[in-house]
Amino acid sequence: MTVLRDQHRGTGAEPGGETVGAVPWDDILAQARKLEAYGGPAVPDGASSLADLQVTGADCIFTVSCAGAAGDTPAVILASGGTTGSPKPTYVPCHQALDRLLPEWAPLRPGATLLNLFTPGRLWASHYYMQALAERSGSHVLPSGPYSPAEVGAWLPLLHRMNVTALAGTPTALADFAEGLLEAGENLAVDTIIWMAEPWTPAKEAAVRRAFPNAGLWGNYGSVETYVIGTSTPTCDLGTLHLMSDQVVEFDAAGALLSRAGDGWTVPVVRYRLGDRLAAAACRCERPRALRVEGRADDSVKLHGTLLSISEILDVVTSQAGVTGAQLVFTGAPGGQHVADRLTVRLTGDADPERICSVMMREFYSLELVVGQSPERLAVCAVGRLERIDRTNKVPAVVWRETERAG
Ligand SMILES: [Zn+2]
Repeated sequence: MTVLRDQHRGTGAEPGGETVGAVPWDDILAQARKLEAYGGPAVPDGASSLADLQVTGADCIFTVSCAGAAGDTPAVILASGGTTGSPKPTYVPCHQALDRLLPEWAPLRPGATLLNLFTPGRLWASHYYMQALAERSGSHVLPSGPYSPAEVGAWLPLLHRMNVTALAGTPTALADFAEGLLEAGENLAVDTIIWMAEPWTPAKEAAVRRAFPNAGLWGNYGSVETYVIGTSTPTCDLGTLHLMSDQVVEFDAAGALLSRAGDGWTVPVVRYRLGDRLAAAACRCERPRALRVEGRADDSVKLHGTLLSISEILDVVTSQAGVTGAQLVFTGAPGGQHVADRLTVRLTGDADPERICSVMMREFYSLELVVGQSPERLAVCAVGRLERIDRTNKVPAVVWRETERAG
């Protein structure tokens, strides 16, 4: 690989700090002052590097985006979260930063017909983002939302008639659609697939590639608060994304920090803490600013005082033969997120749950200690389908259950 990371001399990044991307310090400072003017944190006198500036969160984005909307920027109000807490709203300018996006990432050609499989409503952004992208790309679009595999067959005559050439959805929605198409024994001449909002699993990727062997996969990474941060094209390794220009990311185990420069974004962003851990990567396309999402920042759970990593457990379980998907269900006291009494691992596929249980006890010594004393603290069970989030149709890695509702 040639260029993995931009040089970050003059970015204002902490010397020796792990960063990807490059933005001149004066441009960062201008953004920090804009944030301050909109009600964000004060810029300290003599600030000379990113490390001198305050880390910001969703509250700051709300204040700043609201101030922008109260000016002369019409906005659509969208929100993150809402599954385990109250939704966090953001005023997203109606332009949705497409003038920033399209020069760097243009998956839809004029005249394409996009089937938008993202769930509409409930303030979730992805559906409306894809509607706007299709409009600005000169494409037709069907705002359908997701289908279960069993529904697909009945819709195929219409989708054929409309000459659908592109799909947009979560890997879960794309795999459901692919399975429905395969079960119906039909095909669609899809050449473009846009995905975001959750990671791929090997089983979902296999279903999509089998159903759409001629389609290129275009990835998009961002958040409601920041909108698009990075993208990938069919020439990239699946799951590797490239940070868009005029941005710098500081890696941090507590959540990567994003700063950006210039206009045309949905909101000014300085040291905004993302909910994900990111890491520098190499990509087969050899373009710079390659990143991978390593997992959520809040990855730890205490099971009877023993700290467990959600991503490490899922990595071990899903790498076992016969496992096509997995989900961790933690049961604990009400309000006690990240502290659990019991863990149930749900599996899809044909793996033997008892074997997976043995593998977990072997791989995680601390788990063996906790479970050895009280075997009821760990259960592994096979299920036909993993639980989903109603609002987004995504499959969450973790489901929380309160003790009194356990069963
Ligand atoms: Zn690439």
